[in-house]
Amino acid sequence: MTIQAEVSNFIGGQKISNGQSSLDVISPLDGSKLSTMPLSNHTDINQAVEAAQKAFPAWSGLTLKERVQIFFKYRNLLEKHIDELTNLVHKENGKTTEEARAEVLKSIELCEFAVSMPQIVTNEIQEVSKGVECRIERKPLGVVACITPFNFPNMVPHWTIPNALVLGNTVVLKPSELVPLSAARMAELLQEAGLPDGVFNVVNGGKEVVEAICDHPDIKATSFVGSTKVAKIVYKRASANLQRCVALGGAKNHLLVLPDANVDMTANNVVASMAGCAGQRCMAASVMVGVDKVQPIIDKMVEEAKAIKPGENLGSVISKEAKERIEQYITEAEAQGAKILVDGRNAVVEGSEDGFYVGPTIIDYVKPDMAVAKEEIFGPVISIIRAKDLDEAIAIENSSNYGNAAAVFTQSGGLARQVMEKASAGMIGVNIGVPVPREPFSFGGWNESKFGVGDITGKSSIEFWTQNKKTTTKWNPEDKRDWMS
Ligand code: NAD
Repeated sequence: MTIQAEVSNFIGGQKISNGQSSLDVISPLDGSKLSTMPLSNHTDINQAVEAAQKAFPAWSGLTLKERVQIFFKYRNLLEKHIDELTNLVHKENGKTTEEARAEVLKSIELCEFAVSMPQIVTNEIQEVSKGVECRIERKPLGVVACITPFNFPNMVPHWTIPNALVLGNTVVLKPSELVPLSAARMAELLQEAGLPDGVFNVVNGGKEVVEAICDHPDIKATSFVGSTKVAKIVYKRASANLQRCVALGGAKNHLLVLPDANVDMTANNVVASMAGCAGQRCMAASVMVGVDKVQPIIDKMVEEAKAIKPGENLGSVISKEAKERIEQYITEAEAQGAKILVDGRNAVVEGSEDGFYVGPTIIDYVKPDMAVAKEEIFGPVISIIRAKDLDEAIAIENSSNYGNAAAVFTQSGGLARQVMEKASAGMIGVNIGVPVPREPFSFGGWNESKFGVGDITGKSSIEFWTQNKKTTTKWNPEDKRDWMS
């Protein structure tokens, strides 16, 4: 399938163009123009919310078992079109084909969790006194919105949309304006799977659309995934307008490497964590805290990083601005006295000279107060801070404003346990560099990596996308009054 020359909004089952101004969609692989997309505004959001409201009574009136039937079909369509969906992610985001394929496979896994909802959401009932029953049922909220970032154009929408929909809500998605193609195809495939018109809608655009979502009185809940700066804006604005909101933000993940760690496995995992998806993962390793004597591991990391070649086994970063920002961080660290062991600046890929590439970069002897130690770089860069012991390493990790993930590499169960207990992060890895919890476990960080109650995926999402209805019934044959009649 060829890439759509023009991405439209998808509202009420139709591709809609309201004559908005448009933005070019650029492939970061080579700087070429892939498509255009509309810069929508509050009128488009109003139209989408209206369509979603109209679709809500019939959709929420189906049983959970009926709603999941569509997602069995949709899951199979994802599998059937995996090559095409992989190619879309590769082209619009710039990650390698292998990484893009893994992303679509993860979306399939997310759908498999959604179709398992009838086995999980079983409601509760108890006879609390003779003939009197209390029952709790989960009910959908109504129209809900999902706002997503550029780094996983296929997977992040699947974190929320299948669960929100099978639980009976109708949805408006606002994808990142940098990667609208995967979301547009998602709408087509959901329609092909049999999703009724208006149940799922896509409105493209930037800040203006996000603000219109947060301000809309008929949107009951908004999920956001993106940078901490915008997560704070969205969380405050949506909450102030009485929406339920969960907003996932940025990250600065610390990997604590102890001297007893397995050299090859640790070096391989740390480098894979920092360079995978060109470092544009909220779970990527960003700081390695090397405890005591870890030089053999660092030497091996250098060897591993040098085997990673932009344009071959390393994708591009998202934009020219991102490349410049990442390179600026490296230059500043070098000027402040850090040592660049592997330098990814000025990477050029032959035949794709206009692509946005940064090679893997390892910076050693970083001090905790440097920008590369504290701020999210979001590129294939790892900063190494040396610590004398585990307590100092944990203190460094704890001082971060973020708290998405942290990991420890060691062969000692006791030391690993200390990190599991004391790290200030929502997701912890032991000898694993990207500790993403898989379904049915929930995904979500701590501190400035997440605002709101609960996590965004897995069992926790059931709470977010539903409200409990509590019903008490009395069908007592003796019709006896008691203290709670
Ligand atoms: P971003 O915050 O720039 O954009 C996210 C969304 O917000 C987009 O849809 C965008 O259009 C919109 N937006 C941007 N600026 C806005 C503004 N001023 N007001 C209102 N809306 C605005 O994030 P990004 O660059 O697309 O994605 C990368 C970021 O996302 C990184 O910080 C990364 O760590 C984070 N991220 C976090 C998680 C997580 O699970 N915590 C997952 C993926 C990505």
